[in-house]
Amino acid sequence: MTEAEFANPRTEGRAWSFLVTGDDRQFQGNAGYEDIVEESYSYDSTVGNHQHVAVGDLVVVRNGQEALGAGYVEALQVLADQEKVRSRCRFCRSTGFKERRTMLPRFWCSRCKRAFDDPVVETLSVTAFRAHYGGTWQPLDGCLDKTQLKELSPSRSDQQSIKKLDRHRALKAIEARGVRLPSRGGGDRGGQHRPQELPGGTRRTTAAARRGQDAFRRALVRQYGLVCAVTGAAPAEVLEAAHVRPFSDTRHHRVEEGLMLRSDVHRLFDSGLLAIDSDLVVHVAPSLAGHASYSALTGAVLHLPPDAPIDRAVIADHHAATVATW
Ligand SMILES: [Zn+2]
Repeated sequence: MTEAEFANPRTEGRAWSFLVTGDDRQFQGNAGYEDIVEESYSYDSTVGNHQHVAVGDLVVVRNGQEALGAGYVEALQVLADQEKVRSRCRFCRSTGFKERRTMLPRFWCSRCKRAFDDPVVETLSVTAFRAHYGGTWQPLDGCLDKTQLKELSPSRSDQQSIKKLDRHRALKAIEARGVRLPSRGGGDRGGQHRPQELPGGTRRTTAAARRGQDAFRRALVRQYGLVCAVTGAAPAEVLEAAHVRPFSDTRHHRVEEGLMLRSDVHRLFDSGLLAIDSDLVVHVAPSLAGHASYSALTGAVLHLPPDAPIDRAVIADHHAATVATW
């Protein structure tokens, strides 16, 4: 795509939720788009709301279950007169049919509930769009689930690929989960988009997928948002799920015995250089007195909501065992 629009962000834009369906895309009505979730989102003029998305708008990217991340539209590429192939149900012409992995006939229509082998294929001319937001992207790692997202939208439909959100409430909800979006336009890159590959050959996608596979961390993100219990809001990339009792001792993951901690704080906690008493107050080993940024944490009260399901007895045991070594 060559035509790009880099308009000045509007002072007050709109907000959208973009649905990604990933590898297990079941609906065959649209040809799959090649997008990296952390960078950009492609759609075309057959998609509802396509004409309303603009530079400066807030976007929350979601899958069927939860919010994956958020950013601001930094650039919008537009490509007119693109040929698009669309498949329809042989019987009712619906585009909402599924490919079956093991059964024949191969396709099954969710609308008319009939199966068939050959969908009707049509070619149409569309305008293609790609919204870029990678420069402001913040992972949400599921800290808002689909129910919470639903409450931020005036639309009742789950199927909409581009769904309107209440911008003010969406920003507040994201902020309340510890996510800190950069201010719009702050990352003016002069039309250059960030490369999709990180040094070392990994993609941001891979790192996010790795974090997403940790069920214990997922549960803690759902519970507490992207907030280090000791130091407060932190980027998803440095937040870890800490076991108050070593997992090797307990062999189980209880949210009640877990804390979201920044990776360095997690290391201090596991190394016996930082402990938390039963009043949820932080204590730092005297040996760290020379490290101002850590010794300053002494006396801090955990960043936890009052109803946090934390097992204070387990915290107190860890505290007693730790300070005994100081
Ligand atoms: Zn049908």
